[in-house]
Amino acid sequence: MRIVEIDGSMLEGGGQILRMSIALSAVTGVPVRVYNIRAKRRDPGLKAQHMTAIRAVATLVKAEVKGLALRSRELYFTPRTVSSGSFKFDVGTAGSTTLVLQSLLPTAAFAPSKVNVEVVGGTDNPLAPPVDYIGNVLRPIVAKMGFSFEMSVLRRGFYPRGGGIVRASMKPVVQLSPLRLSERGEVKVVRGISYSSRLPEHIARRMADSASKLLKSEGLDVDIKLEVLQPGHPKCALNPGCGIVLWAETTTGAILGSDSLGEKGKPAERVGEEAAQKLIEELRSEATVDSHASDQLIVYMALASGESTIKTSKLTMHTLTCIELSKMLLPEVKFKVEEGKPTVIRCRGVGLRNRFLS
Ligand code: ATP
Repeated sequence: MRIVEIDGSMLEGGGQILRMSIALSAVTGVPVRVYNIRAKRRDPGLKAQHMTAIRAVATLVKAEVKGLALRSRELYFTPRTVSSGSFKFDVGTAGSTTLVLQSLLPTAAFAPSKVNVEVVGGTDNPLAPPVDYIGNVLRPIVAKMGFSFEMSVLRRGFYPRGGGIVRASMKPVVQLSPLRLSERGEVKVVRGISYSSRLPEHIARRMADSASKLLKSEGLDVDIKLEVLQPGHPKCALNPGCGIVLWAETTTGAILGSDSLGEKGKPAERVGEEAAQKLIEELRSEATVDSHASDQLIVYMALASGESTIKTSKLTMHTLTCIELSKMLLPEVKFKVEEGKPTVIRCRGVGLRNRFLS
């Protein structure tokens, strides 16, 4: 049986190679061996978040897994069959729930019927997509490819205690349609959510006001909602935390996001301005997706039928890594990257069909 050997130290050399490897293994049925896991990180090997992602995908595809241990640097993953149902996974730390979803979503897209999951951990973590980014940026973009999922946050979770609860309900596709985002169009509105738990109300307001001021100075229409949670509210996190997620909606249907997390000692104004500044830079580049979405969309484009096109402000190492990895697991896929400002990424996907629904 073909087994694909993946060097986890290639290019970005982080956790994403692993998450995408197992997702692609799960949907293609091709076993993988991933070695040198997270070799380019200060703390190499598997962490709780990666282990939960592996466990979650393995549950869905009844995989045989070897090497699933904390700090393990080598993993064998042999998928058996894709199943559906309702599952609960707990990272057990404040590790990111959305990164667990990053592996689960493409897998669930090719399941026999709806997959419902509840994931416990962090909802808003550094160096990971905030939960509102997944819900308001990634979700509507993949919906254009025919893949729809619902998401709700039952409780926010921040470092150090975690305990956030996210529910997702994913509806499988027969086949993913190509993603055609070649024109940015005009920005209709910038929306956002400025959220806080266990902090004074003025924090969320100041984050929103500072972001709004900067965006308006660029002539943009802005609508940022506040979510201020205090103890006693079921959605309130177990420890204090805050942040802001922004997204621009354009006349061609493009959605570009940006975000920033609060930290002790970081003024609320800086959090808001940081997110707004990132979004302004994305918009100036004429990209059709933001630089984080570009890496997260590669797997869907590679699996979709026909030619997908996106434009990104920055060709990140994460994106290049996802492209290389897709080629290893889907030998038929073709990518064309035209570097520039913005960089155009074209992909002729393999048109994977859901064997349960076709
Ligand atoms: P490590 O690198 O420590 O292994 P990791 O496994 O958590 O960490 P990475 O391989 O770095 O993860 O992948 C992080 C993922 O999170 C990427 O898909 C990246 O685009 C996404 N991401 C990071 N920061 C943001 C952000 N601020 N907004 C949206 N997405 C983000």
